[in-house]
Amino acid sequence: MQKGKIGVTAENIFPIIKKFLYSENEIFLRELIANAVDATQKMKKIASVGEYEKELGDLTVRVKVDKENKTVTISDRGIGMTQEEVNKYINDVAFSSAEEFVHKYQDPSAIIGKFGLGFFSAFMVSDKVEIYTQSYQEDAKAVHWVCDGSPEYQIEETEKEDRGTDVVLHIDKDAEEYLEDNRIQEVLDKYCKFLPVPIAFGKKTEYDQNQGKEVETDQENIINDTDPIWKKQPTDLSDEDYKEFYKKLYPMAEDPLFHIHLNVDYPFNLEGVLYFPKIRNNIEVQKNKIQLYANQVFVTDSVENIVPEFLTLLHGVLDSPDIPLNVSRTYLQGDPNVKKISNHITKKVADRLEEIFKNNRQEFENKWDDLKLFIEYGAMTDEKFYERAQNFILFKNTEGKYFSLEEYKEHIKENQTDKDNKLIYLYTTDKDKQYTFIENAKNKGYDVLDLSGQLDTHFINFLEQKMDNSSFARVDADVIDKLIQKEDKQETQLSQDDQDELATILKSQLPDIGTFTVTFEPQGEDQDPLAITQSEFMRRMKDMAELGGGPMSFYGEMPDTYNLVVNTNHRLIEKMINNKNNDLGDELNKIKNEVKPLQQEKDRINEANKDKKEEEMPQGDKDNLQDLDKQINELNSQKEQKLTEYGKKSQLVKQLIDLALLANNMLKGEALDKFVKRSIKLIK
Ligand code: ADP
Repeated sequence: MQKGKIGVTAENIFPIIKKFLYSENEIFLRELIANAVDATQKMKKIASVGEYEKELGDLTVRVKVDKENKTVTISDRGIGMTQEEVNKYINDVAFSSAEEFVHKYQDPSAIIGKFGLGFFSAFMVSDKVEIYTQSYQEDAKAVHWVCDGSPEYQIEETEKEDRGTDVVLHIDKDAEEYLEDNRIQEVLDKYCKFLPVPIAFGKKTEYDQNQGKEVETDQENIINDTDPIWKKQPTDLSDEDYKEFYKKLYPMAEDPLFHIHLNVDYPFNLEGVLYFPKIRNNIEVQKNKIQLYANQVFVTDSVENIVPEFLTLLHGVLDSPDIPLNVSRTYLQGDPNVKKISNHITKKVADRLEEIFKNNRQEFENKWDDLKLFIEYGAMTDEKFYERAQNFILFKNTEGKYFSLEEYKEHIKENQTDKDNKLIYLYTTDKDKQYTFIENAKNKGYDVLDLSGQLDTHFINFLEQKMDNSSFARVDADVIDKLIQKEDKQETQLSQDDQDELATILKSQLPDIGTFTVTFEPQGEDQDPLAITQSEFMRRMKDMAELGGGPMSFYGEMPDTYNLVVNTNHRLIEKMINNKNNDLGDELNKIKNEVKPLQQEKDRINEANKDKKEEEMPQGDKDNLQDLDKQINELNSQKEQKLTEYGKKSQLVKQLIDLALLANNMLKGEALDKFVKRSIKLIK
């Protein structure tokens, strides 16, 4: 028997490792099974080149739990090890790589998938580990190695029936969960589901009619699919096969929209199948993720930094031995291989989408509403993807018709170019709420886009920067004649007095939900007398503030601002002015006549002092001016009060403002109730 001391310089690194990786100590099983699978694959290789003449026999890797003796055993019928090899690979290599590992990863959070720990990870859950191994080589003696977690080990010759290796773990007190079948099954499901060699754990169960429960059969329970779909040729697979595989990965998810089969062997290795999921809600986005494998061993489902961010929304499997997994995440981003892989995936995704767009436009359109979020997100965050996506991004209009960007431009060019030669894209974010405005636009022969998706408004911000001489305007951002201004603005014929007085009357009826600015626009007779609009700029700023915070949050705190646009060409507005003049004309004129001499006197004093500086003005003039201002203000507020009282009593004003509010979904509660009752009364 040989005794020795493992060549580890740090006195005792086992406790450190145990502590480091405690939270993810389950990976010991993946590491040991991966070793067993490697040894088995090597055996097959040796046999295939004729260097092993005997029968290969059953190559199943077996995992056994012995509750009584508190052991977990992983057995393989791979190449095994000679005593020399155990010395070399276990005592020297495995342990020195473990030491290196500890040095490298002072910060355990920097480790992805905890790869690189290998055989050594057995000590994360064991207080003693034994290896029984018999090399495939002629005349090799079987070897028994044992180590209790200190740097000392023992190695001796032994008897072993079969070629291959058994690794026996004497499970630690605080890792006894691994003596439970369920726990082992769970870890196997997570990491070993697609390993290329059959892995057996326990027996298959079957429902027994007589006993009324699941009972064990004689058949071994193989936990993995040794030939997963991504290893096969796309030409040998049907859509159904891809769907079935998807169900295996995400049993609860809805059928995916499309799949993409990746298969590259130069200049890096990458295989996989990605799916465009039907995203229903955020919870699913969080839960179902792309799974990353290295040679069919599950590594992680956090693929951030490996694929571009927008692609993390996809589902499926990536398998690449070329992604360096035992490095920190920040390092990954800069790794040239990872960059290439990430670019390749982006390109493939774009290729596939373009292919479906070109060859099967109908299918593409049918799925667009589900795809949209993903493509918009991709275009906004990945310049390369945007360049490609320009060809297949679709716009949907309010009639449910789809256009490519180019097609849409053609569609509206004629009609929706304004006097400054700018192309105006009209859109709605809510077909019901903005119905009146949509109708107004349509009556003008304009087209309106349906941009009710989560990302749509951000996306048009982005598109505007990319497109020349074009802008997007929500249908309710202004009255239609001003949204797409065809000729120079027509001035209203209303006198300034009429405008001011009407504004005061109208304001008396506006609800307290923000600030309103009253403006006067001579529009067509067919346009509504009053319309409430919200400036495109302010609304976008507020939207962004809501989502983003940061420097924009200032906008979020501002009150909502609206415009009340008065159509001065409308018959009912003319009527409103006439009513005002009939009902209030005398009173208003009286006040105006009182203001007039006061104003004249003010003008006179100002004129006399116009060349003097403030401090040179005689005190008498100053006092007079102050006094005049006071009187004028007094009269003006009388006027305002009269107009306000008048406005509050006017059925016509009330009715027209409520109708404008109603068209914007802004008439609620008590105000709505009053409107209904008043309207009923009006029906005679
Ligand atoms: P790695 O697998 O990354 O090389 P490990 O520490 O897991 O590192 O294993 C070290 C070496 O020990 C392996 O490269 C292999 O040569 C040998 N080895 C480990 N497990 C087995 C096994 N089950 N059968 C044969 N050889 C093994």
